[in-house]
Amino acid sequence: MENTAKSVLYIELDNCIGCRSCLAACTQCGGHEERNRNYVYDVNPLVNRQTMPIMCLHCVNPACARSCPVQAIQVHETGAVLSAMVEKCLGCQNCTIACPYGIPKFDEEQKLMYKCDLCIDRTKDDIPPMCASVCPTNTLQWISKEELAAKKKKHTLDNENWVASAPYLENETNVRINLPGILQGTAKLF
Ligand code: SF4
Ligand code: SF4
Repeated sequence: MENTAKSVLYIELDNCIGCRSCLAACTQCGGHEERNRNYVYDVNPLVNRQTMPIMCLHCVNPACARSCPVQAIQVHETGAVLSAMVEKCLGCQNCTIACPYGIPKFDEEQKLMYKCDLCIDRTKDDIPPMCASVCPTNTLQWISKEELAAKKKKHTLDNENWVASAPYLENETNVRINLPGILQGTAKLF
């Protein structure tokens, strides 16, 4: 079923300069309890200084939610895969193991999982998530579905350095990635 979101998070991985503004902004989103929920990694620290953000891709059929024994991870009508409901989460960490990207984090003190909820308080009203609001290099963008279609058209190349998502890992995702030059020829991201 088509979700109700007007816009999507779109990632141009090779724009990232490693400033980690996205992580700082993430902590400031209402309901995030001053904890960031994503990651910025070095692509190949021994070779260059290229970094890239690793975000929850808000899978259409999310492994994290499927693996939860108590249905603590709900999917919003916009397609955003929400953080675990505090009153339900058992702290079993099945979701982190199931996620192909290892996204859900674990609060050792509260024994609770927490993850990116795509700043649902903002994105449900089509306001960009915190990370995309602050990224100075347009690595993280909040764009309309029409803009996404235009980008895809522009980037459709025979050498496949455009992908609209990462289907080889977890099928269709709501977040879209433009796989960059830095990863060309790499079969797997992680
Ligand atoms: S804010 Fe943008 S450029 Fe800075 S680390 Fe995050 S993704 Fe990279
Ligand atoms: S990327 Fe991981 S945490 Fe995010 S929806 Fe997919 S399986 Fe869940």
